[in-house]
Amino acid sequence: MMPQRNTSHSRKPPYLFIALAVIFLAAGIVLGVRALNSWNAYTVAAAITPTPSPTVRPIAVTAAPDLTTYTPAPTATPGALSTGSSGDMVRQMQQRLKDLGFLNGSVDGQFGSGTKKAVVAFQKQHGLDADGIAGSKTLAVLYSDQAASYVPTPTPHVTNVTAGDIPLLVNKWNKLPDDFEPAELVTIKDLAGDLFLYEDSKFQGVREAVEALIRMIQAAKADGITPWKIGGAYRTIKDQQRIFDNRVSRYLSEHEGATRSQAVSNTRLTVADPGCSEHHTGLAFDLNVPDQFFVDTAQYIWLKQHCWDYGFIMRYTDDKEDLTGIIGEEWHIRYVGVQHAKNIQSLDYCLEEYVDYLKNRH
Ligand SMILES: [Zn+2]
Repeated sequence: MMPQRNTSHSRKPPYLFIALAVIFLAAGIVLGVRALNSWNAYTVAAAITPTPSPTVRPIAVTAAPDLTTYTPAPTATPGALSTGSSGDMVRQMQQRLKDLGFLNGSVDGQFGSGTKKAVVAFQKQHGLDADGIAGSKTLAVLYSDQAASYVPTPTPHVTNVTAGDIPLLVNKWNKLPDDFEPAELVTIKDLAGDLFLYEDSKFQGVREAVEALIRMIQAAKADGITPWKIGGAYRTIKDQQRIFDNRVSRYLSEHEGATRSQAVSNTRLTVADPGCSEHHTGLAFDLNVPDQFFVDTAQYIWLKQHCWDYGFIMRYTDDKEDLTGIIGEEWHIRYVGVQHAKNIQSLDYCLEEYVDYLKNRH
């Protein structure tokens, strides 16, 4: 019985099979085209590369999710947006960057150099890796409540401080702008290596001054005068404020019952008000000898005798305190260039007197 049934069926199936196959194929094509279209729409929207292999999707029997209406959550971005990306995701990101003030250009859905710049600025301001690629992390922050508006960083006054006929004068009556930044700052240790000991290995100064300092201390070393420690160099307004505040706090902790204004007055004897420090020029350095009072050292005697030949002056001496506003600081030298330094030495002027003298002559 069974074999007969089987043989009777064996003739019919081809028709049924063909019919089923045609239906199946038609359904497959419809689903496939639909899935392919959806996917294309999605990839354009998400600007995703690479595109998925199209040979797999068209013959899938289970229907693909309807991606045409799917808007990916920013936190679940399947791909990063970067230079060359385009589409709605880019447009959406550009709009957000524009709303926050990071993007100046147009919202055109094209990730070009302007968009990259905006992404970098956003990343920098939000402590993200500033690679200019909007990956899931960057986009998550961008669309979150933590995304802050653009805060422009002030462009510093980059000034060639060693140029000009009259040396730059900075004191409590002649402030530098808060965003002053000397041109050609270099890290002293990069140029001088172990010629010095450093209170801070990141100390910087203006190249010309640092090079003169190195020549000078090499000469001292050749005379057998060593070691030298750099205790201070270029200081920003921020550094100056920190140093000033620390000194005020120290005074208050060491002098029970002292008022804050007493502490400030006392601090001002040795520390310039923020904005008034000559260290801001990148031309001033504090030299000292570890564990010794500088005035008692051979280094001080050598420096006082030779600094002029290398373009440095002893900036603060006790006898000029009323003119400089700073008590004697024998360890503080200032670069003015060889000619000015020699003039200042022979005239026995402080820098305030010398600048006055030059101005009256002009
Ligand atoms: Zn100093």
